[in-house]
Amino acid sequence: MRALIVEDDSLLSSQLATAMQAAGFVTDRASDGTEGEFLGATESYDVAILDLGLPGLPGIEVLTRWRDQGITMPVLILTARGDWTDKVAGFRAGADDYAVKPFRLDEVVLRAQTLIRRAAGHARPVIAAGPLKLDSQLGVITRDGTALKLTAFETRILSYLMHHQNRIVSRTELSEHLYEAETDRDFKSIEVVIGRLRRKVGDGLIETRRGEGYVLRAVG
Ligand code: CA
Repeated sequence: MRALIVEDDSLLSSQLATAMQAAGFVTDRASDGTEGEFLGATESYDVAILDLGLPGLPGIEVLTRWRDQGITMPVLILTARGDWTDKVAGFRAGADDYAVKPFRLDEVVLRAQTLIRRAAGHARPVIAAGPLKLDSQLGVITRDGTALKLTAFETRILSYLMHHQNRIVSRTELSEHLYEAETDRDFKSIEVVIGRLRRKVGDGLIETRRGEGYVLRAVG
């Protein structure tokens, strides 16, 4: 899962990034509203954490522009203590959740995970796909109750496929949600990891649609 963090307080921004990465996210960071708006509008993220008090372009304006462009990613806004008008303006502009500073880092991570799950149409923290179960808060995937031994990258791919089960996920879409903006997105390594995943999760669950992408079959 890929997260965008737009926050001008560099210490807070790096603390957030570290906490998100520890929970299995890849993160991109922007320190002003203009850059944040650009990244959110041109890259694919599963969630954005957006400070409202930003240089360049105010957070509310960033969010308004994203929504005007039809960008639907879940957005969690960060507001200053006691400024409830900010919060209301944020929700009106299309925010999905908020955290008031100072907040606990793990709480923001948890809320971000919840937003992603809800956005994918899953109301419970455990997502099932056939014999597989993903505990999205612990980042653990089990098959028939036994935890699979997966690398961080394998977990990211499989959990993305589980969030979007029963539909075709293209390699481009996968790569957009697995890598940071600056890294090379190579399809070859995705293919290799999918091959390994197939052996680890068992036959028949992950189908390859030639030229289209992958489907995690979780029916029946
Ligand atoms: Ca700020």
